[in-house]
Amino acid sequence: MQRFPCPFCGLRDEREFHFVGELGKTRPDTSGPVSDEDWAHYLHMHRNEKGCVREVWMHTTCAELFAMERDSVTMEVLGTTQLRKDAS
Ligand SMILES: [Zn+2]
Repeated sequence: MQRFPCPFCGLRDEREFHFVGELGKTRPDTSGPVSDEDWAHYLHMHRNEKGCVREVWMHTTCAELFAMERDSVTMEVLGTTQLRKDAS
């Protein structure tokens, strides 16, 4: 069992977290038509990089989103950062 550091609550059991997606992925612009191919690419295609990755996670207990940097090989968490614009 792994423990992840929520930037709001501290170290918690991994079962309290939900993977949201890769950090920095750009959602298609919905001000105009978006093709099925563009939506499918956005929703289902992942870089799946080996090594240091930056991802968005949610701590389901506090319902906050945050960035997690981790090593995808060793699963070591390298750090977490709040994503709220009003976070200090
Ligand atoms: Zn939390």
